[in-house]
Amino acid sequence: MENDLLKIARLNKMVEEIEDYAILLLDRKGNIENWNKGAEKIKGYKASEIIGKNFETFYTTEDRKNGRPTLLITTAAEKGSVRDEGWRVRKDGTCFWGSVVITAIHDDEGAVIGFTKVTRDLTAQKENHERLKASEERYTRMVAEVQDYAIISLDTEGNIENWNSGAEKIKGYKPEEIIGKNFRTFYTEKDRQDKFPESFLARARENGRAQHEGWRVRKDGTYFWGSVVITALHDDEGNVIGFSKVTRDLTERKLAEETQQKYLEQLETRNREMEQLAYIASHDLQEPLRTINNFLDLFRIKYSHIVDEKGKMFIDVIMQSTGRMKELIKGVLDYSILGINQDIKEIDCNHLLQDVLKDLSLSISSTGASINVDPLPVIHGYNIELRQLFQNLISNAIKFRKPDTAPVINISANKSFDKWLFTISDNGIGIDNSVFHKIFLIFQRLHSRDQYPGTGMGLAYVKKIVELHNGKIWIDSQPGKGSTFYFMLADMIPAQSAIKSSRPVTISL
Ligand code: ADP
Repeated sequence: MENDLLKIARLNKMVEEIEDYAILLLDRKGNIENWNKGAEKIKGYKASEIIGKNFETFYTTEDRKNGRPTLLITTAAEKGSVRDEGWRVRKDGTCFWGSVVITAIHDDEGAVIGFTKVTRDLTAQKENHERLKASEERYTRMVAEVQDYAIISLDTEGNIENWNSGAEKIKGYKPEEIIGKNFRTFYTEKDRQDKFPESFLARARENGRAQHEGWRVRKDGTYFWGSVVITALHDDEGNVIGFSKVTRDLTERKLAEETQQKYLEQLETRNREMEQLAYIASHDLQEPLRTINNFLDLFRIKYSHIVDEKGKMFIDVIMQSTGRMKELIKGVLDYSILGINQDIKEIDCNHLLQDVLKDLSLSISSTGASINVDPLPVIHGYNIELRQLFQNLISNAIKFRKPDTAPVINISANKSFDKWLFTISDNGIGIDNSVFHKIFLIFQRLHSRDQYPGTGMGLAYVKKIVELHNGKIWIDSQPGKGSTFYFMLADMIPAQSAIKSSRPVTISL
């Protein structure tokens, strides 16, 4: 007996000391009969403040209005116990999320004589859960509403489990038409026969991720160019439990690329044909020209005694014209074969310029030209052509000098992103900006031959050489104020030149 009393006392003490649970005894009407440490901690009342009060004190006004506390104890009385979760009110008026179990206590005859009520404060868990739920909801909505990407999830077999707006927009199916079907549906007949979708999924399973671009089929049978990434999803043990599949419709980009590629190929073919034509024409034209020259020479030797002065003058004019024609034909021939050797070398532009200036030394000294050269870079490029480029630009700067003014020419180079920007400026006669577009065209000249000798091919050469180096050329000039030619050159390092193995586009003759 004494033992039993001791046990009960220990039990009471244990209940009293428990801090994490509010453990209460209620009478049949729900009035509070005892109060433990946990109850005080969770609900804020001291035992003296709450014992004797009804447990509905902990319920919100609304719950009380709806009779929730009464419903709970009547249910517990009927069924033995009842579980409930909901917002409860602390002494200070703040709320906590309570998880409650109310259990009926019976006497020996089975009549309900009261209740135990165990409450846990799950506010922190509830808040975490809510936060998680909200973020999951936001995430789901975000995925669902993304328009530019089809974001779908697949089960381990590749069957579609969900479908977002982007998927509907790109592939044309409504969720109810496609969920449950296999993602093979989006592949062409040929891809399906080749079991491409299966091997794509297998790759994602093995490597965690697989990527592919190719033609896919919409609901209406039309094709789109899809860029697809499939990612394997794993459980905590590392087993694959499904896949995410993100698809972008890059049809427009693909078509634009194809059109551009076709256009480029056409242009290159045309260009090659034109160059070939120019080469053949100029090569073959030399032959009759040589014959004319030879016979004119013979004519002069054999019949000069019977030709009067006027006749001799005519022959001289014919000879001058054929000489000029020879020069032009050679020019076209040289133009057509610019860069044909694809001979890319490492070139120290400082040395190259020294050589060019040596070649031009006669005209430099005869005109009193001063040429200032800043340190220049070492680049990879077409050696002979680059020499020709500098030679043409510098000789033009000397040729188109102002009468009675010694040419002053400045040459410099600066790195501009991945290219070199060269500048060659002079203090010559300058050019009106209305004719800037003309001067780079072959045979286009702004002056008569009497004023300035030339063929009108120099700048056409220069432009083609710059383009051979993936660059561009432009001019800044004003009549009487000198000219500055700017041109960009790419460093044609072997890797770059290998990518661009075909000849670059050049202007037509
Ligand atoms: P060419 O020198 O044989 O006339 P180009 O193709 O080298 O042919 O030049 C085309 C035209 O551009 C020249 O006729 C000239 O009018 C103009 N030009 C070129 N360089 C200069 C320059 N540095 N200053 C002024 N005009 C120039």
